Parts: sequence; C-alpha cells; structure tokens
Amino acid sequence: MKFLQLVSLVAPLAIASRLDRRGKIVYDGYKIFRVATGNDVAAFEAHIESLEAIDLTHNHGHVEGEHFDIAVPPESLPAFEALNFTSEILSEDLGADIALEGELAKYSRLDATSAAALPDPSWFTAYHAYDDHLTFLKDIQSSFSSNSELITAGKTFEDRDIQGIHLWGSGGKDSKPAIYFHGNVHAREWISSKVVEYIIYQLVANYDNDTTIKGFVDDYDFYILPIVNPDGFLYTQTNDRLWRKNRQTRSGTTAVGTDVNRNWPYKWDGEGSSTSPGSETYRGAAAGDTPENTGIRTLGDQLAAKNGIKLYIDWHSYGQYILTPYGYSCSAATSNQDKQDLLAKSLATAIAKPYGTRFTAGQTCATLYATAGGSNDYVTDVNKAEYGWAIELRDTGRNGFTLPANQILPASTEIWEGLKFLFANF
Ligand SMILES: [Zn+2]
Repeated sequence: MKFLQLVSLVAPLAIASRLDRRGKIVYDGYKIFRVATGNDVAAFEAHIESLEAIDLTHNHGHVEGEHFDIAVPPESLPAFEALNFTSEILSEDLGADIALEGELAKYSRLDATSAAALPDPSWFTAYHAYDDHLTFLKDIQSSFSSNSELITAGKTFEDRDIQGIHLWGSGGKDSKPAIYFHGNVHAREWISSKVVEYIIYQLVANYDNDTTIKGFVDDYDFYILPIVNPDGFLYTQTNDRLWRKNRQTRSGTTAVGTDVNRNWPYKWDGEGSSTSPGSETYRGAAAGDTPENTGIRTLGDQLAAKNGIKLYIDWHSYGQYILTPYGYSCSAATSNQDKQDLLAKSLATAIAKPYGTRFTAGQTCATLYATAGGSNDYVTDVNKAEYGWAIELRDTGRNGFTLPANQILPASTEIWEGLKFLFANF
C-alpha cells in the first residue's frame, strides 16, 4: 500500500486537454509567465515538458536577458510555483485573452452588388476564417485585374494551394525587382496575415489616386503570400489556437508538425532549431523536406533568377523586432550590413510615429536568438536579396499571439506608415 502511494506521488502529470463541443482546446485558466531561466536552458525545457506547459517564445535575451514565455495549465500552477523561478505574469487567463480576439467575423465587400469591389475595410477590425482570406485575395485581385494576378507557391502537406498575389505597375508584369512577403508561416501568429493583407489593400486601393503609392507599385513587382502555412492556420481555428508548425506527419513518431521556418536548406544544421519531432522548433528530418518550404523557396528562387529580390520580409509575431541577417551566426555580417541596420532603425522610427509603438531593430542572432534553417539567411545568401528580414509584430507579450481584434488596425497602420518610409528611402 505504501509502495502504491509512492508511485502515485511521483507519477508524471497527465493533463487531459479540455475540449469544447467542437473539439477545440479550451485554454481557460492557463496563466502565461515570463520566466528568467538562468543559463540552464535544457533543464528548463524539461520543466516545460513535465508541467505540460506550452512554450510560446524563448528569447536568448541579448537585449532583455534570457527568458521563456510559457502558458501553464491550471493543474500545473502549484508545481510551477514550487520551482521558484523569477517570473512575471503576462496573462492571468489565456482563455479570456482568446475570447478578446472575438468571433471569426463574416466577410463582406465594399459594394455587395459588384464582384469586382474591394473587400470592406471592416476586414481589419476582426479575425476571419481561412476560406474568407482566400476570398479577400480573390476580390482584391478582381478589383485590380490589369495589374495583378493570383499566384500559388506549391502545395501544403495536406494538399492545399499556398496562395498569394502578384502586383505590378506601369512597366508591366515582372519588369522590376521583387518585394517578397510571407505571412503566417507560424500558424498561431494571426496578426501577421492581417498586416500583410493591409499592405496589399493599401497598394491596390490607392494605386490610382496616390502618386507616391503608384510609384511603389511601378518600381517593384510585389509577391505577397499572406498565409504560407494554411494547414497549420486552419488547425489554429479548428483545434488548437496555439499551434505553430505545419501539420506534417512522419514515420517513426506520433509527433505532428515541422517548423517550416527552421527547415530552409541553408545553415540548417545548427543552434536555434531542434532535432526532436515534438519540439516547437523541429527542423525536419532533412533540409527543405516540408512541402511548404519547397513551394515558397521555389518561388523565391524564381524571383531571384528573374529580376532579383530587393526586399524580403518574413512576417511574425510577437515581440516588436525588425531583424536583419543573420540568424545562424552572431558574428557573421552581410556585405551591406551597415546599410541594412541603419535602414531597419529608421524603419523602427517611422513605425513609432502613429502610436509610439517601439520596435527594436538589429541582427537576428545578436538581438533576439540564434536560428538555423531560417528564411532570411537563405534569401540573403542563396537568393542574394538586398534586404532579407524578419519582423516580429505587436505586442511585447501582454497578449502575445492572441492580439485583440481592436489592435489589428493600429498594428497594421503603424507598419504601413513604416513601409511607406522604407519604400521611398531604400
Ligand atoms: Zn514566428
């Protein structure tokens, strides 16, 4: 009897996810903590696993000190507190934060009677279902039909098209260097597709009535893919709001998903990605072995071969960072590094103008953390992009991935103000 009691005391926690009636994970009662971990990262990762906590982000802290943001389930709160780490509470209740995102809204056009009308601007005051994102793109394209086309960049693991839009100006299709944007490679970073769609909207809606904006579209071919990980994005809407990776299954493991942004076939084998299939930063079994990476990489390779890539931005959240190369090394520098860093800092200044939101600009590894197999290193060195960046959008942790719907418009507006400066000055 004594022996049995002992066993039950040391048995690992087994927390059954609570599901709502549609089968979606309920996060009510989860608290989010920012935890200062000291140097023993591996030991802390083991704690995350035993607490069945969710690893939201890990900042190696060249700016703010080493820390993890983790979501701790209610059952594990006493065990977490007993560990006695220095921590601050970012959110008292993740479930309440998710509720603040609001219901997925209904899609509508500016003019409901015309198939060629722009989407209604209310698109930027709520979140929407995946299919509506596709309708949004289709309608934008129809409203700008002589200067745009819908594009696809291959297929996902679950056989969906990776969709996007190509915009061009007075020089005609594919006559200028490319500006290439990816949103939502990480499924839970919903604000990233909204901001990218806002950029498309501004370029298209103002082409005919604003000479500055017309100038941008005349000077560059824009290739914009708001959701490059649609399988994962859909899964965040149907099953798990905090899903990050793609939905790829592999033999020999029950773990699902590869981090498409640790899978690029350049500097793939290094610090800043995981070899463990269950990890949020699982890099895959071989470099470039996710279908999503193959699709978006092939498109980038084609753009590089055509007229070159002027600017690449991989849009993420959260943290408010503008990240220049490199992720794979904290000491390597590009041939135009000074120019890149100066421009990134000026972009941060321009972004701050509307609402005072502060973005930190700097090299990925030295500013935030090491990454291996990340997009901006590949696009910089293999595709020879002039600027190969990643931007982490709002916020700095209070709402994290679940940014309230009433922040979509300000988060988009400040980025657009920043980009107008960037396009005019690089
Ligand atoms: Zn991300």
